[in-house]
Amino acid sequence: MHLYGTQTIEANGHLVIGGVDTVELGEKYGTPLFVYDVALFRKRARGFIDTFAKQGIRAQVAYASKAFSAKAIYQVAAQEGLSVDVVSGGELYTALQAGFPSEKIHFHGNNKSVQELNEALDAKIGCIVIDNFYEIEQLKRLTTERQQKMNVLIRVTPGVEAHTHDFITTGQADSKFGFDLSNGQADEAFRALYEHEWLQLQGMHCHIGSQIFETEAFSLAAKKVVDKMANWKKETGFEATVLNLGGGFGIRYTDEDAPLEPATYVDDMIQAVKKEAEQFGIALPEIWIEPGRSLVGDAGTTLYTVGSHKTVPNVREYIAIDGGMSDNIRPALYEAKYEAILANRANDLATTTYTVAGKLCESGDKIIEEIQLPQAVAGDLLATFCTGAYGYSMASNYNRIGRPAVVFVENGKHQIVVKRESYEDLVKLDDMLNW
Ligand SMILES: *Cc1c(COP(=O)(O)O)cnc(C)c1O
Repeated sequence: MHLYGTQTIEANGHLVIGGVDTVELGEKYGTPLFVYDVALFRKRARGFIDTFAKQGIRAQVAYASKAFSAKAIYQVAAQEGLSVDVVSGGELYTALQAGFPSEKIHFHGNNKSVQELNEALDAKIGCIVIDNFYEIEQLKRLTTERQQKMNVLIRVTPGVEAHTHDFITTGQADSKFGFDLSNGQADEAFRALYEHEWLQLQGMHCHIGSQIFETEAFSLAAKKVVDKMANWKKETGFEATVLNLGGGFGIRYTDEDAPLEPATYVDDMIQAVKKEAEQFGIALPEIWIEPGRSLVGDAGTTLYTVGSHKTVPNVREYIAIDGGMSDNIRPALYEAKYEAILANRANDLATTTYTVAGKLCESGDKIIEEIQLPQAVAGDLLATFCTGAYGYSMASNYNRIGRPAVVFVENGKHQIVVKRESYEDLVKLDDMLNW
């Protein structure tokens, strides 16, 4: 059994996180319940930030908040000195509501609406990462009308394919994101931006994929982007001050995953950028990164209550839980794999192979295909590990199931930071037809 962060198993077989008994959490707040180990989030954040600091590299570590967006996580991100990425007006609004410093917010997205761009300008955020020519036109018009400056980065697709699942790779040339580095579009975007009166071009951004377990892909991307920066400098004298290498650092979901330490990713990245900058004769830019999954992924655990059983003789033993694809769509979407334990009887011998099914009306609604557990009975508490990223943030109300509550735990303290959705919440936006 692999435990994460502050997790321990007590003599009574209970899983404890952040000094808090998960069986008590389940009883007090109900299930399904997302439990975040705040200390582990802080540790992950420091792992990235401290590595840059140790090497004396000017950097920003931006939490890619699409992984889990809620006021409380923006609060902790601010406490730890992180910047944040947002990809929608809704995420921006949530961050601002949480009091997150606007100058440390970066806005991403391949189809930001005019309203969203205005919201970003109103809030005077730190930087907008420009994705396409339409956005350049909109931003030129808006900043000129408003006589307002805005820092921008050009998002490029460097054509580096990270070794990961196809569905979550964005770095190849055929991508909906960004300007292609090799077909002239990135140069065209540069020419459209670099001398603009209100748009202040700081540099470039690339994001080559997700759940990446090696550093070569980042180094290769850095090389291509720095090469382009050097070209632009040669042609125009433009000196980029920011190189954003995106996120995508891999984490351990199961034994199949062998992630590197944050320090390893960052060290290799710094070496690559330094080397290329020297070779191409440009000043070392600030290095920005955007971890999402690797900051919150293993800090999150989902607690479910076991309900019904089904035995398919000689084939499979199912147990069903009180959630499923409505709170974790990743197994259905990406064939993502998870580990789990019975959080109330973690010391019992794991004797039975189960498929853990959800309660939603899809045959594909399975959280785990095969897992060894003690003989499970209705009422047992199942803990799925490593659900902190792209779990709650991708949750839906399919089958009109309310989204779970989210509780933060740290040093024996626990507090609900997102309430459970009630039936009233589910019909709150509905109106009766009036004819
Ligand atoms: C999703 C995304 C990230 C974060 O990716 P992780 O795999 O969660 O680290 C960072 N930057 C951009 C542009 C993204 O789209």
